[in-house]
Amino acid sequence: MRIAFFGGTFDPPHLGHLGLARAAQQTLALDTVLFAPVAQQPLKPSGSSASFEDRVAMTQLAIAGQPNFELSLADAPNPAIPSNYTADTLTRLRQSLPTDTDLYLLLGADSLRTLAQWHRAAEIPFLANLIVAARPGEDLSDISTHLPAGIAIQLTQPNRYRLANAQGQQSQLTLLLDTHYEISATQLRNSIRRNPSTQPALIPEPVLEYIHHHHLYE
Ligand code: ATP
Repeated sequence: MRIAFFGGTFDPPHLGHLGLARAAQQTLALDTVLFAPVAQQPLKPSGSSASFEDRVAMTQLAIAGQPNFELSLADAPNPAIPSNYTADTLTRLRQSLPTDTDLYLLLGADSLRTLAQWHRAAEIPFLANLIVAARPGEDLSDISTHLPAGIAIQLTQPNRYRLANAQGQQSQLTLLLDTHYEISATQLRNSIRRNPSTQPALIPEPVLEYIHHHHLYE
């Protein structure tokens, strides 16, 4: 099985999220992309505007009927853990999957840019292969500058790299360069706040109905 973990705030989920997940699924022949709304992003301390429950409901609506996409509650609020760190989530996820599962982590280019600041950053590429999707305004011309220290990177095929560390661990990084989604959840929330009856074309219709019905972001 080839499974990608796709964590995010999904506040709200939009067509950019769906587009890059589909690009990853097709490029790497993934069996499943797990959409995992995060309780609280460690690097977004101001938090999200919609509750975790609303973001889960919207994510479920966004992926309904989409083959190979599933909701994951791996990053749900958990009083037993101090924060939702991706390294911890991937470690738990790995333990819950058969040992021959190929696990991937799907990220937008802006997330890769901050990766070195994440908790246990140097371990993350060896807990899951990385898939990095291009995002307008983000420079992916030299990805080595975005990797945590101590990781060697070597191009193996166009847009595919081998990563290695001093402990002899190896992993793979795949770039998706055809994802050009000029969409951000922040802009979408702002546009709904300015005009609650707005119909942003970049949000899946059932998600938009949910937002209007629950008066989110107003
Ligand atoms: P915000 O604008 O509030 O930061 P966001 O959509 O970037 O919202 P998340 O919902 O946390 O934030 O995104 C989940 C993942 O999807 C992240 O890895 C992010 O980099 C990626 N992503 C989101 N939008 C895009 C986009 N337009 N192009 C490429 N990647 C994206």
